[in-house]
Amino acid sequence: MLTPKERKTVKAAIEAAIVEAEAMIEDLRTRAAPVSPDSAIGRLSRMDSMVNAGTARMALDQAEKKLSRLHARLDRIDDANFDVCGVCAGQLPMARLLAAPDRGVCVACLQQKH
Ligand SMILES: [Zn+2]
Repeated sequence: MLTPKERKTVKAAIEAAIVEAEAMIEDLRTRAAPVSPDSAIGRLSRMDSMVNAGTARMALDQAEKKLSRLHARLDRIDDANFDVCGVCAGQLPMARLLAAPDRGVCVACLQQKH
Protein backbone atom coordinates (compact mmCIF):
# COMPACT_ATOMS: atom_id res chain seq x y z
CA MET A 1 0.00 0.00 0.00
CA LEU A 2 1.38 3.38 -0.97
CA THR A 3 1.58 6.27 1.43
CA PRO A 4 -0.25 9.41 0.29
CA LYS A 5 3.13 10.99 -0.41
CA GLU A 6 4.28 8.03 -2.52
CA ARG A 7 1.00 8.06 -4.42
CA LYS A 8 1.52 11.74 -5.20
CA THR A 9 5.04 11.02 -6.47
CA VAL A 10 3.83 8.19 -8.72
CA LYS A 11 0.94 10.32 -9.97
CA ALA A 12 3.37 13.09 -10.91
CA ALA A 13 5.55 10.54 -12.72
CA ILE A 14 2.55 9.27 -14.71
CA GLU A 15 1.48 12.80 -15.59
CA ALA A 16 5.00 13.69 -16.71
CA ALA A 17 5.14 10.52 -18.83
CA ILE A 18 1.79 11.46 -20.42
CA VAL A 19 3.09 14.90 -21.39
CA GLU A 20 6.21 13.25 -22.80
CA ALA A 21 4.24 10.63 -24.75
CA GLU A 22 1.89 13.26 -26.18
CA ALA A 23 4.82 15.35 -27.40
CA MET A 24 6.40 12.27 -28.94
CA ILE A 25 3.14 11.30 -30.68
CA GLU A 26 2.81 14.81 -32.07
CA ASP A 27 6.32 14.63 -33.48
CA LEU A 28 5.91 11.09 -34.85
CA ARG A 29 2.59 11.95 -36.53
CA THR A 30 4.41 14.56 -38.60
CA ARG A 31 7.15 12.12 -39.51
CA ALA A 32 4.76 9.20 -40.15
CA ALA A 33 2.77 11.19 -42.69
CA PRO A 34 2.61 9.52 -46.13
CA VAL A 35 5.45 10.50 -48.42
CA SER A 36 4.14 12.48 -51.37
CA PRO A 37 5.84 11.81 -54.72
CA ASP A 38 7.27 15.30 -54.93
CA SER A 39 8.38 15.53 -51.32
CA ALA A 40 11.93 14.50 -52.07
CA ILE A 41 14.31 15.03 -54.93
CA GLY A 42 15.56 11.82 -56.45
CA ARG A 43 14.56 8.20 -56.04
CA LEU A 44 16.99 7.34 -53.24
CA SER A 45 15.99 10.15 -50.94
CA ARG A 46 12.32 9.32 -51.57
CA MET A 47 12.95 5.71 -50.53
CA ASP A 48 14.76 7.05 -47.53
CA SER A 49 11.74 9.10 -46.55
CA MET A 50 9.48 6.08 -46.95
CA VAL A 51 11.67 3.97 -44.66
CA ASN A 52 11.74 6.76 -42.10
CA ALA A 53 7.97 7.16 -42.28
CA GLY A 54 7.56 3.40 -41.75
CA THR A 55 9.81 3.49 -38.71
CA ALA A 56 7.97 6.53 -37.40
CA ARG A 57 4.60 4.76 -37.85
CA MET A 58 5.80 1.80 -35.79
CA ALA A 59 7.14 4.11 -33.09
CA LEU A 60 3.86 6.05 -33.23
CA ASP A 61 1.88 2.87 -32.66
CA GLN A 62 4.04 2.03 -29.62
CA ALA A 63 3.75 5.57 -28.25
CA GLU A 64 -0.06 5.56 -28.62
CA LYS A 65 -0.32 2.24 -26.78
CA LYS A 66 1.90 3.56 -24.04
CA LEU A 67 -0.21 6.71 -23.75
CA SER A 68 -3.41 4.73 -23.35
CA ARG A 69 -1.72 2.53 -20.70
CA LEU A 70 -0.63 5.67 -18.86
CA HIS A 71 -4.19 7.04 -18.88
CA ALA A 72 -5.50 3.71 -17.61
CA ARG A 73 -2.92 3.77 -14.79
CA LEU A 74 -3.79 7.35 -13.90
CA ASP A 75 -7.48 6.38 -13.66
CA ARG A 76 -6.54 3.73 -11.11
CA ILE A 77 -4.11 5.81 -9.05
CA ASP A 78 -6.43 5.85 -6.02
CA ASP A 79 -7.16 2.12 -6.12
CA ALA A 80 -6.03 0.18 -3.06
CA ASN A 81 -4.25 -2.35 -5.28
CA PHE A 82 -2.60 0.22 -7.54
CA ASP A 83 0.86 -0.91 -6.42
CA VAL A 84 0.09 -4.59 -6.82
CA CYS A 85 1.19 -6.57 -9.89
CA GLY A 86 -1.80 -7.26 -12.15
CA VAL A 87 -0.54 -10.78 -12.86
CA CYS A 88 1.06 -12.28 -9.74
CA ALA A 89 -0.44 -9.84 -7.18
CA GLY A 90 3.05 -9.19 -5.83
CA GLN A 91 3.97 -5.80 -4.43
CA LEU A 92 5.35 -3.35 -7.01
CA PRO A 93 8.26 -1.44 -5.49
CA MET A 94 8.35 2.37 -5.76
CA ALA A 95 11.35 2.11 -8.09
CA ARG A 96 9.29 -0.02 -10.48
CA LEU A 97 6.28 2.32 -10.35
CA LEU A 98 8.52 5.25 -11.19
CA ALA A 99 10.64 3.50 -13.82
CA ALA A 100 7.65 2.10 -15.72
CA PRO A 101 4.65 4.23 -14.75
CA ASP A 102 2.58 2.76 -17.61
CA ARG A 103 2.94 -0.84 -16.36
CA GLY A 104 0.92 -2.30 -13.55
CA VAL A 105 2.96 -5.46 -13.81
CA CYS A 106 6.19 -6.48 -12.12
CA VAL A 107 9.40 -7.07 -14.05
CA ALA A 108 9.27 -10.86 -13.69
CA CYS A 109 5.69 -11.10 -15.03
CA LEU A 110 6.37 -8.69 -17.87
CA GLN A 111 9.34 -10.77 -19.00
CA GLN A 112 7.33 -13.99 -18.88
CA LYS A 113 4.79 -12.47 -21.22
CA HIS A 114 7.40 -12.21 -23.99
ZN1 LIG B 1 4.07 -10.01 -11.16
